[in-house]
Amino acid sequence: MSPVVVAADFGGTNLRAAIVDEAGQILARRVDPTPQGAAPDVILAEIGRLLHVTTDASPERPAGLCLAVAGLIDADAGTVILAPNIPGFRNLDLTAPVGQALGIPTFIENDASAAALGEHRFGAGRGTRHLLHATLGTGIGGGIVIDGKLYRGAKGLAGEIGHVVLDPAGPRCNCGSRGCLEALVSGVAFAERARRLLAAGASPVLQELVGYREPTATDLQRAAEAGDRKCEAEIRNGGHLLGLALGGLINVLNPEAVTLSGGLLGMGETLLGPMREAMYSIAYGPSSGTIVRLSELGDDAGLLGAAAVAFERLRG
Ligand SMILES: [Zn+2]
Repeated sequence: MSPVVVAADFGGTNLRAAIVDEAGQILARRVDPTPQGAAPDVILAEIGRLLHVTTDASPERPAGLCLAVAGLIDADAGTVILAPNIPGFRNLDLTAPVGQALGIPTFIENDASAAALGEHRFGAGRGTRHLLHATLGTGIGGGIVIDGKLYRGAKGLAGEIGHVVLDPAGPRCNCGSRGCLEALVSGVAFAERARRLLAAGASPVLQELVGYREPTATDLQRAAEAGDRKCEAEIRNGGHLLGLALGGLINVLNPEAVTLSGGLLGMGETLLGPMREAMYSIAYGPSSGTIVRLSELGDDAGLLGAAAVAFERLRG
């Protein structure tokens, strides 16, 4: 039998765990809702219970475990520095208590970095040696694979592509800077663009869709699909800025492929067309050969990414 690992993906909504083999097959899985408003020790206890139940369902003893968490992670120290979606997860040693409880080697990774390795091993990045992965969702994350291995940087924070500054006079970002990619082109940023259009009375189509509630990025997308040119222009501008950021990064990294995942991909060519155009317009020399591929892992990206990290860590 091929070795298996426990993979876990912790978000603000769900705690997911699975048994995964070296080919990326999910042999068993569990999903529980993240306890809302609970203290860290309550969430830790729930994580421990979920991992025990998942491990019990494994056909053989797992060789190791990796937890993918959205946030700032010190992967080498095994600690969560800050997880904005899980209140109380701050300067928290996660791997030691979990590893002791389960008695197997335990690792932790930023979810976007894990997703990059997952795409490289099991998804749209198969067959590449050098890969840049971008997660385009509520926020913007990224991960870098160099020579087939996840690149973590000096402090494990490499791949934070959401905080490339594109407009120093732009909107304030959660990180404290202005005009970061994430502050201009993310689910939250597109919702803010929609809010501004509504406040200016610039889009009757969007107003009709939204009524009196807060607009979302999906509303902006639907209004654009319904033919609203102002909404379409906001998405196209976002795609252009995303392409500038990715183009700069491929000039630095010269990856064979850029893989993309996340809910913003639902915006389709309205986003991706201007993105490709801007990216290739600034890609320098051979970097213009970098190809763009969309994720093949879907909802399992976090779990398969965590599994890929566990197998890589176990190989040493
Ligand atoms: Zn930022």
